[in-house]
Amino acid sequence: MSAVYSGTIDAIGKTPLIKLKKASELTGCTIYGKAEFMNPGGSVKDRAALSIVRDAEAKGLLKPGGTIVEGTAGNTGIGLTVVAKALGYQTVIVIPETQTQEKKDTLRFFGAELVEVPAAPYSNPNNFQHVARRLAAKLDKERSGGAIFADQFDNVANRNAHIHTTAPEIINQLDGKIDGFICAAGTGGTIAGMSMGLKAYDPSIQIGLADPMGANLYNYYKNGELKGAGNSISEGIGQSRITGNLEGAVIDHPYQVTDQEALPLMYDLMAEEGLCTGSSSGINIGGAMKLAKEMGPGKTIVTLLCDSGTRYMSRLFNPDFLDSKDIPVPDWLRRGHAGET
Ligand code: PMP
Repeated sequence: MSAVYSGTIDAIGKTPLIKLKKASELTGCTIYGKAEFMNPGGSVKDRAALSIVRDAEAKGLLKPGGTIVEGTAGNTGIGLTVVAKALGYQTVIVIPETQTQEKKDTLRFFGAELVEVPAAPYSNPNNFQHVARRLAAKLDKERSGGAIFADQFDNVANRNAHIHTTAPEIINQLDGKIDGFICAAGTGGTIAGMSMGLKAYDPSIQIGLADPMGANLYNYYKNGELKGAGNSISEGIGQSRITGNLEGAVIDHPYQVTDQEALPLMYDLMAEEGLCTGSSSGINIGGAMKLAKEMGPGKTIVTLLCDSGTRYMSRLFNPDFLDSKDIPVPDWLRRGHAGET
């Protein structure tokens, strides 16, 4: 029997664990994906959004009718807007213009005020996070209900969502029988919160990081150097600095996962197992398989299916786009569908 919820807020989290058959068979481990795409806003970021909003309310920062301002690759903005709709707030979302049209359209249709900015590194004052912080300070003075900066990268209310909801859910779902957990990092809230939550339960649970190419965290956790090279088409992941959320998190096994490794896993999951995810889920599954191989057969490893592939149809399912990025295109995708020929 599935649960009956009192409203949208109550429906955030409590997502199922789905066994990933092929990844499990290929490694001899049991690999589960936590189906975060089933959240009301369609991604893992609903959890962080709710936690950030509740924290700001409790601190008296967010007032009735107030405005929540955030810089986001999209999913946090969607999560914040879902929460804002349910609780009576407004959202202003600053998004790099490089993110998919699907995410921008979703935000606009939901009624978020969207501010698109050119992509710029964190060191540039015009980076989306800095623009959002300045805009929040300005709107706080101008708007009757005031405005807050959600600050998902450095506000630890983000990782607390995973310490207090995602980690205990997984422990309960598996009766504590979990050997390893792995995912990629955007803000780092998920990986840090999961590491803290799972290790508080059992310090022997191994935590892996699946880092996309171009991010700096793999080298940092491997040898203390914040540097990286290459690039990835995955949106929402790939961090260059130790964010407030990442501070103090224990990562036992850092791995790099290339798009060329990750994307075929994401396509196979759709074509063979019927789960349509975004590419950060492919990076996560690639990482889970590396962790499984390192830990040896018979282990139980959990990763996250962060969001749905429908959020990226114009790119991940567009052979012209994939060709331009040197990503192998599955035959079925060139044909136009994963059905019989
Ligand atoms: N996958 C996707 C699709 C995301 O949007 C995000 C968040 N930006 C992540 C993974 C990473 O989550 P976190 O910010 O908690 O590191």
